[in-house]
Amino acid sequence: MFLVSAVLVALAALLFTLLIRTKDVPEPEPVSPVAHLEQRKAQIYENLRDLQFEYRVGKLSDEDYQKTKLGLQSELARVLAEIDGIQPPAPPAVEAPPPVQPPPETATVCPHCGANFARPMKFCGECGKAMVS
Ligand SMILES: [Zn+2]
Repeated sequence: MFLVSAVLVALAALLFTLLIRTKDVPEPEPVSPVAHLEQRKAQIYENLRDLQFEYRVGKLSDEDYQKTKLGLQSELARVLAEIDGIQPPAPPAVEAPPPVQPPPETATVCPHCGANFARPMKFCGECGKAMVS
């Protein structure tokens, strides 16, 4: 009995998730990050034009006109700020630095005379021969 209800709950949760998901993602991703904002901006401009027209032909009261206009303008400002705020796509990652060059053939102990040096050397400071043959 417990198992059956557990399965039912899980199924319900799954269905719920699937339904929400299909409802939430009805349209494909916009191509540009600002494409949907540009679209929104155009729409607001159009609404403003319509509003002005309706006001001029006397369909709207002064109060309604001002209120709606302010609302649209503040939304427009928000959209414009959002467009400005979106950074252009990041430049391609800086190329990895070239691999460290293998050190030239050096050694700290001369194979010829056995002299010891604090840092690797190409030629022996004592006998002058190549440190690495
Ligand atoms: Zn030497």
